[in-house]
Amino acid sequence: MSLIVQKYGGSSVANVERIQRVARRIVKTKKAGHDVVVVVSALGDTTDDLIELAHQITKNPNEREMDMLLSTGEQVSVSLLAIAIQHLGMKAISFTGPQVGIITDRFHTKARILDVNTDRIQKALGEGQVVIVAGFQGKTVAEEITTLGRGGSDLTAVALAKSLSAKHCEIYTDVDGIFTADPRLVPDARKIDVISYDEILELAALGAKVMHSRSVEVGKKFDVPIYVRNSAHEGEGTLITKETKKMEDIVVSGVALMEDEAKVTIFDVPDKPGVASKIFARLADANINIDMIIQNKTQTKKTDISFTVFKNELGRAMPVVNKVAKSIGAGEVTCDENISKISVVGVGMRSHSGIASRMFKALARKKINIEMISTSEIKISCVIEGGKGKQAIREIHKEFGLSKK
Ligand code: ASP
Ligand code: MG
Repeated sequence: MSLIVQKYGGSSVANVERIQRVARRIVKTKKAGHDVVVVVSALGDTTDDLIELAHQITKNPNEREMDMLLSTGEQVSVSLLAIAIQHLGMKAISFTGPQVGIITDRFHTKARILDVNTDRIQKALGEGQVVIVAGFQGKTVAEEITTLGRGGSDLTAVALAKSLSAKHCEIYTDVDGIFTADPRLVPDARKIDVISYDEILELAALGAKVMHSRSVEVGKKFDVPIYVRNSAHEGEGTLITKETKKMEDIVVSGVALMEDEAKVTIFDVPDKPGVASKIFARLADANINIDMIIQNKTQTKKTDISFTVFKNELGRAMPVVNKVAKSIGAGEVTCDENISKISVVGVGMRSHSGIASRMFKALARKKINIEMISTSEIKISCVIEGGKGKQAIREIHKEFGLSKK
C-alpha cells in the first residue's frame, strides 16, 4: 500500500463546509487504497488574527510565547478535521507537531526541522487510521514548542513525506496549480503541468506567490515529488519534480513581476580595490538584503554603483549607505522606489541562446526602458520603471508563447 501525504492550506479549511469537503476528499483517497497522512494549516486567517491580538498588547512580543500562541491555530484545524472524517465513518486521529516527534532547533518563530520520529504515525497508520498532523510546528529537544515560519505547513508536509518515504506529497490550495504568470496580471496565463524544483525556487524568490521556498528545497534535496492542486475540485495540478531532459525544450517556464524592491545609487565612487567590499559589508552588518548590483568601470577614476533592496528595508538602508558613502569619499546617494523587476525563468535557458534579446525586444516594443539587468543560469531579470510592470509582463508572456493555446 502506498502512502500519500496531503497538505491543506488555511483557505481550504476556512470554515466547516470546507473542512467537510476536505474530509470527503481524504476519505476518497483512503478508499482508493492509500495510506494517508494529512497536514493542515490553521483555519483561514487565524494565524494573522492571533498575531494581531499579540500586537495589540506590544509591538515586540516574546518569541517563545508567540510560538505558544500561533501553534494553537493548527490544533483547532486538526481536531475539527479528525471529527469530520470520523463523522464520515472512517478512523482518524489528530496530533500536534510535538506529539509526532517533529524536532526542531531552538529558533522560535523560524525554527528548522532537525529530525522526525515517525513511530507514532507509523503505529496509527498500522491501525488503519487517517493521521492528521498540525502543520507549522514542532518542539525542541528541551520540549519547547516552536513554529517554522509563515507558510511553514508546506515544510511539515514535505518533511513528513520524506521521513515516511511517501509516494509523493500533495499540497492543496485555492488555485489550480502553478501558472506561467500570476493570472491576476496576465489573464491568459496557463497552468504548468510539470516544473523543476529549481524553477519554482527562482520563481518564488522573484515574487511569484507559489510555494514556501524551504519546503521546495527540502523536496529537492530528498527528491520528493510535490503536486500543487486545488482543493475545490479534481485536477492534476502542477507536479514539481527533478529536472528532466524534456523540460529543456521549453525555454521559458514562467514570468514573474516583483514590485517590492527599490534602487539605490551611489555616484562618483572611487574606483579602487576594497570599496565595494566596504559598502556591502556595512549593509550586511545591518542585516539588509541586497538583490541586484550594477557597477561598471569608467574612463575616469570614479564609478557609479546601483543596487536594489527591499522597500521595507530602505528606511534602514539609507542611513547606512549615506554614512559609508561619505567615509569612502563617494558623491551623492539617491534612491528610487518607483521601479519594478520583471523576470523570466526556465531551465531551457541552459541550452538555448537568444532568450535575453527576445525579452529586451518585447520591452522595446512597449517602449519600456531597462534600468538594470541580471542573469543566472536559468533566469533573466530586468529592473524597469515602476507602473509599467503589468504591460511588461503581458508582452513578455506573449513573446515566449506562454498563453493558453
Ligand atoms: N498557519 C501558518 C501561517 O499562516 C502556517 C501555514 O499556513 O502554513 O503562516
Ligand atoms: Mg495560514
